Amino acid sequence: MALNFGKVAYSRSAGTPADFLRDGLPQFAFAGRSNVGKSSVINRLVNRKNLAYVGASPGKTTQINYFLVDDRAYLVDLPGYGYAKVSQAEKERWARLMETYFQDGADAITAGVLIVDIRHKPTENDRVMHSWFRESGCPEIIVANKIDKLKRSQVEPALALIRETLELTEEDILVPFSAEKGTGKEELIGLLNRACE
Ligand code: GDP
Repeated sequence: MALNFGKVAYSRSAGTPADFLRDGLPQFAFAGRSNVGKSSVINRLVNRKNLAYVGASPGKTTQINYFLVDDRAYLVDLPGYGYAKVSQAEKERWARLMETYFQDGADAITAGVLIVDIRHKPTENDRVMHSWFRESGCPEIIVANKIDKLKRSQVEPALALIRETLELTEEDILVPFSAEKGTGKEELIGLLNRACE
């Protein structure tokens, strides 16, 4: 039965590998650079205003947040990256946490959701995150967020640039999305449900 994304609760935060969840339930791992709208996308999926904290001062908390959906799967909010003002120590903490999450926890990832900004060419960090999802072997969904900020005629070229930069193939899934307007929500929910089958 399809997951009810309207039924959601905060589960836990993990700042160290000891706190990673490995209870066998499906995990949808959400990644993206700071300010790309990752919190907004998660909140849109679950119809909540502030489950994931929008506008959280970027880089202040290097931790993984788990939200339980319908008592049957987790939305995993991976810490954002690429915020210029973050200290070197914080960057290293982020890298260590991600490394262990992908090393020890990769088999727990049911689907990876990489959120990029439809207005911009994906960054080097986006490419690194994309390669981690690839190497983990999980299905990956690329979400091109903030589509409401583009004119209709700009959408196709923007999607093509993302495809080219991330070297996506025909089979790779790229979902145009707007956390602001709700565009792409049902498609993304459908894809996440399918990943669990
Ligand atoms: P995060 O750092 O990736 O979690 O990003 P946030 O969810 O905090 O969003 C960063 C900013 O982008 C906020 O001001 C949001 O309101 C805005 N934002 C997020 N998604 C969208 C979108 O789809 N369209 C528009 N226009 N703004 C968005």
